[in-house]
Amino acid sequence: MLNKEELERYSRQILLFGRNAQDRLKESTVFVIGAGGLGNACLPYLVGSGIGTIVLFDDDIVERHNLSRQVCFQESHIGQKKAEVLANILQQQNPYCKVIAKARKFQLEDVNSLPNCDAVLEGSDDISTKFLINKLAFQKKIPTWIGGLGPVQGHLIPVLPNQKNSACYQCIFEKEPQSEIPTCATDGILSPMVGVFGSLMAYETVAYLAGTITEFPITILEKEQIRSLNIRPASHCPFHKNHNSDSRRNG
Ligand SMILES: [Zn+2]
Repeated sequence: MLNKEELERYSRQILLFGRNAQDRLKESTVFVIGAGGLGNACLPYLVGSGIGTIVLFDDDIVERHNLSRQVCFQESHIGQKKAEVLANILQQQNPYCKVIAKARKFQLEDVNSLPNCDAVLEGSDDISTKFLINKLAFQKKIPTWIGGLGPVQGHLIPVLPNQKNSACYQCIFEKEPQSEIPTCATDGILSPMVGVFGSLMAYETVAYLAGTITEFPITILEKEQIRSLNIRPASHCPFHKNHNSDSRRNG
């Protein structure tokens, strides 16, 4: 039940999609994996939009080279745990949102708390975690958004287990790479990239939970162009093995 202050706080959004949708956001719990660039960009909008409960996982600490793109962090936060710092900032931003910090990596045991979860946002820099979260999305039937960034490329892959015709992370990236892959630390990154994809993650999640949009394309930024692609499930994907069509772009 939204109180008077909350109704005022969310009034512009309620004008757009109504009180019931705002109530649904308040009743929602979202897991966010990663308090780095994507987390810093999406979380203020999730909290600002009125998501009721956020559970934030990250085992990292704030370092000076993070500050150029992880824009919630300040010089004084260097050396502190990212999940705890960010949760504290977000809690002050919106006291009506409950923000729970888990200053560690998301682990398989955390799956037990997923039944109370309405959406998962994966924004870590760990490929194994992305494959794990994709698998859990199907096991637990939880809508999930997986983001990834390169120096000047990015992608956002919605994983919607109830929509049989949309591709998942494993349809696109068939297997975990066996060798080291480039990271921000090896190849660098253009700072605003995290803002583009983090904001999009928040937008799609809020729209989904509010019930205003139900289908989402894959978004890719490459060669300085942003494109939306509807990609069908791939025959190699274990989560779509009963699906007959091969992966192909049709959008
Ligand atoms: Zn798949």
